[in-house]
Amino acid sequence: MKHRNSGYMKDVDELIEETSVDQILNHYGKPLSKAGSAEHRMECVFNEECADNQYGNLTVKLNDAVNRIYCHSCGVRGNLLTLLHGLERHEPPTGGRLRGDEFKSAVAKLREISGATDTVPQVGTTTVRPTQSPAPKPVNTPLVRHEKEAAQKIADLYNDLVTDVADMSPKAAEYVRHRRWMTPELLEKWGVGWIPGNGRSLFRKGYLVYTHRNERSEVVSYSGRDLSFEEKWAKWIREGRPDGKRPGKHRFVQGFHKGLELYGGHAGRLEEPYVRESLAKRGLVVAEGMNEVLRMETLGVAAVGLGSNKATDAQVEKLIRFARQAGHDRIVLMPDCDEEGEAAFKELLWQLSEASIDVKLGCSSNMHEGKFAGRQPEDFTDDEWNEIDLTIQR
Ligand SMILES: [Zn+2]
Repeated sequence: MKHRNSGYMKDVDELIEETSVDQILNHYGKPLSKAGSAEHRMECVFNEECADNQYGNLTVKLNDAVNRIYCHSCGVRGNLLTLLHGLERHEPPTGGRLRGDEFKSAVAKLREISGATDTVPQVGTTTVRPTQSPAPKPVNTPLVRHEKEAAQKIADLYNDLVTDVADMSPKAAEYVRHRRWMTPELLEKWGVGWIPGNGRSLFRKGYLVYTHRNERSEVVSYSGRDLSFEEKWAKWIREGRPDGKRPGKHRFVQGFHKGLELYGGHAGRLEEPYVRESLAKRGLVVAEGMNEVLRMETLGVAAVGLGSNKATDAQVEKLIRFARQAGHDRIVLMPDCDEEGEAAFKELLWQLSEASIDVKLGCSSNMHEGKFAGRQPEDFTDDEWNEIDLTIQR
């Protein structure tokens, strides 16, 4: 088929064919592919939620000309150019396909990388050092100042959230009632609630919505907790864990880098007396989810949440800074007491210890006669909390 851009396109196709996946990976300081394998597995470059899985989600075909890619978690598909786009911008192409300006800038980057590598000495396959300066660090733009109009429109979505169970859908009401500590006042304060389908929400009625703020308390995102997650998860297990169908517990506003923030990490909290008192008594408490942070507030405990079991480098840096500035150099870890949660927190414990933070473990599947095995801190009873608290206070 004739196309007015066919010369340019042919050029791009050739460029893609000539550039190896390893050239791209090397440029961004990523581990290189194994010699001789047909595909390469790596962490998803489009959505941070995908990193929650224990192994790499993103498959890159090494033995086809355009290097097709597919993320088994978020489902983004594409080719070498799409991969480049993700490595540069840390988000999927707008509208799911690389086109227009996004396409052009990925091509320009590809030209730069393939051109640059002609003039530098070939690096060994074990080297992962980037040959160029690393990509600019992503930031979370507050929604009120966001370049996308759709994002601006939901900046004050927290005003629409329903916090009284009497006005929620049966599923949402059941979820909140099951957590007796989830009072309307607590939900209101944190910007958590159910949202009726009113047109401007990204979240349908089947979600409990949480407001996410940056350190300066500006709203940078919302997340929705899928109220049908448990059913979907059970179905996925029954069906033999099919690839690419793994249900997600939370969904976020597209483009949000949750790994850059800590839930409950807004500085305004330091003005609350209970927060200062708790930091003095225990240091900073770190948990996995948003619900843990809320639950701990009801117990007078100041906690922050990772929004995942695995802390990102940015979160580790932030935790260390918080602990030094306001937590008396102390951190208490409260992981979900299951295999995946504990494995990730073991790594965090190591990283914090290396930074000379005084780290204590609040709970694990073995501690306290194993009574917390398989459980999450948000479900611990008041008595169980008091028992833990005796061991973590100084
Ligand atoms: Zn993904």
